[in-house]
Amino acid sequence: VAPPALDAAGTGGIPGGGYLDGRWLTDDLALEVVDPEDGSVVGRVRLAGPADVDAAVGGVSRSLREDAWELWERRETLERAAALVREEHERLAAILSAESSKTITEALREVARTAETLRLSAAAAPLLEGETLPFADTARGAGRIGWNRREPLGVVAAITPFNDPMNLVAHKVGPALIAGNAVVLKPAQKTPLSALALLDLLLRAGMPPRRMAALVSDREAGTALVRDRRVDAVSFTGGPATGDLIAATAGARKTLMELGGNNAVIVCEDGDVSAAAAGIVDGAFGVAGQNCLSVQRVLAHAAVYDELVALVSEGARGLVVGTKRSPSTDVGPLISRREADRVQSWIREAEAQGARIVAGGGLHGAFHEPTVLVDVPAGARVLEEEVFGPVVSILPFTELDDAIARADATDYGLQAGVFTASVTVAMHAAARLRVGTVLVNETSDFRIDAMPFGGSRRSGVGREGVASAVLELSAPKNVILNRL
Ligand code: NAD
Repeated sequence: VAPPALDAAGTGGIPGGGYLDGRWLTDDLALEVVDPEDGSVVGRVRLAGPADVDAAVGGVSRSLREDAWELWERRETLERAAALVREEHERLAAILSAESSKTITEALREVARTAETLRLSAAAAPLLEGETLPFADTARGAGRIGWNRREPLGVVAAITPFNDPMNLVAHKVGPALIAGNAVVLKPAQKTPLSALALLDLLLRAGMPPRRMAALVSDREAGTALVRDRRVDAVSFTGGPATGDLIAATAGARKTLMELGGNNAVIVCEDGDVSAAAAGIVDGAFGVAGQNCLSVQRVLAHAAVYDELVALVSEGARGLVVGTKRSPSTDVGPLISRREADRVQSWIREAEAQGARIVAGGGLHGAFHEPTVLVDVPAGARVLEEEVFGPVVSILPFTELDDAIARADATDYGLQAGVFTASVTVAMHAAARLRVGTVLVNETSDFRIDAMPFGGSRRSGVGREGVASAVLELSAPKNVILNRL
C-alpha cells in the first residue's frame, strides 16, 4: 500500500482515505480534511461516489456469506480493539483533535470512552444467546420445545456526525459487529479520519477484512447507500432534518436514529446553586456547545435567578477560549467559520428581539465566546431550535409545573436536569418531563456508554447505548421442535 497523504500530514499513519472490499483507498484522495482552528490540511480522503457505495455494500455482503466469524471471535476482536485504543490513545487523540472542534483534553476523554464502548460491546456477547420459549404451559404449545438465538440483521449502514467523531462511530460499529452484522460506515465529511483510524484498529485486532467498509461521501452517495436494497438496517446519528431525508429514502426498513437536542436544566429554589452553575458552564460550553446533550436553556426559580445568572456569567467569562493544542484551553473553535457565523447571527437576532448578553457574545473567526443570554423572549430561535454552539439562555420561573411545561415546549426530548434538595420535587419532575433521561442534581450533559440512550419526538427513534443497540441490531430466530 502506497503511503497516502494522511501519513505525510502527520496524523498518525491511517493507511488510506477510505476502505472497501478489503482494501484501503489510496488514490483519488481529493477531499481535504482541514483543522477548523486555522484551516490547515490535516489529511486527504476519497470523496466516494455511488460506484464506491455499490462496491462497498457488495464487499461486506460477501463477507457475511463467506467469512465465518463466531461470537467468541467477535468478542475477542472487540476486546483487542479496546486494548489497542487504550495503548494508542495519544496518537488517536491527536487525530481526533486535529480534524474536529475538540481540545486535546476533550479528545483524550473521547478516546477513553471509545475504548469503553468497544469493551462494553464485547461484554454484550451473552445477550445474543437468546432464551427458551414457554411452550409447556399452553395447551397449543404442549409437546413442543423451543428456543431462540439472536441473529444479525445483515448489512448495517452507519451514518455518523462530526461532533463525537470516534465514540459515536464506536457506538454504531461495536454493537453491530458483536451482533454479527457487516457495516458500511459513512462518517461525517468534516471528521472522517477518526473513523478511519478506528477501522484500522479493528482490522489489526482481527476483524475479517471485508466485514466493514468506510466511505466518506456527499449526500448523493449517502442517499445511494441508504437506498441500496442489500442494506438491512440504517443506524443514523445526526440532525433531525437529515433524519427525515434518510427515513424517506430507507422506507419500511429497520432504522435507528439518534437526533438532536434542545436540553433544559431546571434549578429549583432549594437547589444547590453553585453546583448547578458549575455544571451549566461545563455542559453549555464544552466542545463549544456542539453536543446533543448540551445545556441550551436554564429555568431558574426567581429566588435563585440573580445568583445563578451571576455565577454562570462569571464561569463563562473565566473559560479560556483558544487553541485546541493547549491543555489549558477550555473552549476550542466551532467546526467551521460558517457555523460560528450562524451562531452569532442567532444571538444578534435574539438581541434584536429584546434579549441581553450578560457574558461573551464575541466572534473571532471559527471561535465563538461562551455566551450567556437573559430576557430572551418566547419564540426566539435560540430557545426554539437546536443552537449547537456555546450559547445558554437563563429564564426565571415561579411555579415548578410551569418550568416543566416550558422545558418540554420544544420539538426535542433528549435529556433534562433538575437541581433540587427535595426527593418529592425530583420525583414529580422525573415523572412529567418528556425526555429519554432525567438527571437529578446533574445537568442534561451526562451519559454513560452503557445506559439506554435516546429521546422522544424529534430527538430520535429507538435507543442506542451498547446493550440497547445490540438488541436493536439483532433479531430473535425461534427454533421449535415438535414431538411426533
Ligand atoms: P448532519 O445531520 O448534518 O449529518 C450527519 C451525517 O449524515 C453526516 O455523516 C452527513 O454526511 C450525513 N448525511 C447528510 N445528508 C445525508 C443524506 N441525505 N443521506 C445520507 N447521509 C446524509 O449532522 P451533523 O451536523 O454532522 O451533526 C450534528 C447533529 O447531530 C446535531 O443535530 C446533533 O444534535 C446530532 N447529534 C445527535 C446525537 C445523539 O446521540 N442524539 C449525538 C451527536 C450528534
